[in-house]
Amino acid sequence: MKTLRRWSLKHARGMRGLYGLFERMAPRLAPVAEKIGVQRLEAVVLPIERAAKRAFFDCQMCGQCGLSVTGMACPTGCAKGMRNGPCGGVRLDGQCEVRPERRCTWVDATEGDARILPGHTSTWTRRAAPRDYRLTGRSTWIPMIAPPKAMPVPAAASATQAPRVQDDPVDNPFATLCRERSRFIVTVEISPPDSADPRALLDRAAVFRGLTDAINITDGAGANCHMSSAAASALLHAAGYTPVSQVSCRDRNRIALQGDVLGAAALGIRNVLCLTGDDVSKGDHAGAKPVFDLDSVNLLHTLKGMSERGEYASGRKLQHAPRLFLGATANPFVPPYAERIANLERKVDAGAQFIQTQFCFDIERLEQFMHAVRARGLHRRAAIIVGVGVLSTAKALRWMADHVPGVNVPLSVTERIGAAADQRLEGKRFCIETIQRIRGIEGVAGVHLMGYRNEDVLAQIIVEAGLRTPARDVEAVS
Ligand code: SF4
Repeated sequence: MKTLRRWSLKHARGMRGLYGLFERMAPRLAPVAEKIGVQRLEAVVLPIERAAKRAFFDCQMCGQCGLSVTGMACPTGCAKGMRNGPCGGVRLDGQCEVRPERRCTWVDATEGDARILPGHTSTWTRRAAPRDYRLTGRSTWIPMIAPPKAMPVPAAASATQAPRVQDDPVDNPFATLCRERSRFIVTVEISPPDSADPRALLDRAAVFRGLTDAINITDGAGANCHMSSAAASALLHAAGYTPVSQVSCRDRNRIALQGDVLGAAALGIRNVLCLTGDDVSKGDHAGAKPVFDLDSVNLLHTLKGMSERGEYASGRKLQHAPRLFLGATANPFVPPYAERIANLERKVDAGAQFIQTQFCFDIERLEQFMHAVRARGLHRRAAIIVGVGVLSTAKALRWMADHVPGVNVPLSVTERIGAAADQRLEGKRFCIETIQRIRGIEGVAGVHLMGYRNEDVLAQIIVEAGLRTPARDVEAVS
């Protein structure tokens, strides 16, 4: 089986040609389907389709086949159910974050794409819709032969239930800055506390007052349990900060995600960063059930629909639409590199207006990525904010590279910090140098500082890198 799968990937161009031929020929079989009945035809075709697709593509029979647009690699095999490109945790050798014994589905898809259309990074740019679990086990060949009849849409329902448009009472300086780019953006990340007392959170945030344009609140980062991102963001908002609430697809299905974001918006949250989330096996509840009902592209699309059209993913109208400023993540530093730009474009098309990247320890790789970003004009459509971080020692850096999915720390960096007499000081120096170099790259809108429970050092870096002067900017909204 594995050999057949590798063979079909190797011959993706030919297999794609066969699929294209079937797509063109299928409608001609419609009269046959009509004569013998669609159900009877499916009873004959389904076992053949299942056996052939399982052998050649490790098909899971999701009922929404995307093979012909994903390099003939079945995306349903992805452990996080990604339908629109790779997660940010792909290992440097191209193996899956969750199942290291398997190649990442999207690395295969990218290679298949390159065989189908040599010289192109991706044969598809359109968003793949979320899975409809009612279709699991159903044929995708039969609808090509006899497309199901469209259900009439009751026109009156949407017209009478259109959401009321209101002026937004919440000021959002972060959104304004991302649109206008009047200065180099500075954001930081805070992990919310393991406490029902908000003081620990407010103490961490206080270090950054006047120094940043927004504060990200992580959502179960590393699959570890903490205070909820929405609640922590609401606490920061009430205290006069501008939070970015991170929303991960790992722990909730589409019903819970939409309800939580609506609730957060009612509490004053406007900035929402959509991300897939780390696998549960990395966290402190390794036995938990991973959900991954939506991927980050479909989460963005869903929230954009709530915000702009005032409707849930089901099409049902909201009474008052939430005003959301949506963001997404990007990881230019891990494979499949060629797919990263197409993936970013899908996120921007789906509604991302700002992008925050994974830790950047490799400027050359970032420069290559930004070159492609500029070529596609994506830096004009979304503010690209590059992640930087500080770690105290070479040992801590090595640990992060080995244990945090998607973090790529080149050997030269750990060697430089490891050779220093004062590793903490050298780590800080390296971070400041990285920020200076990032500032010089055309199209980068800002930096996003991360450092787990390292708030004081991050605040020093912001000042010492010349990003903000506390005395001058103290009135600025954080
Ligand atoms: S690395 Fe991520 S995107 Fe690739 S197969 Fe694994 S979970 Fe899916």
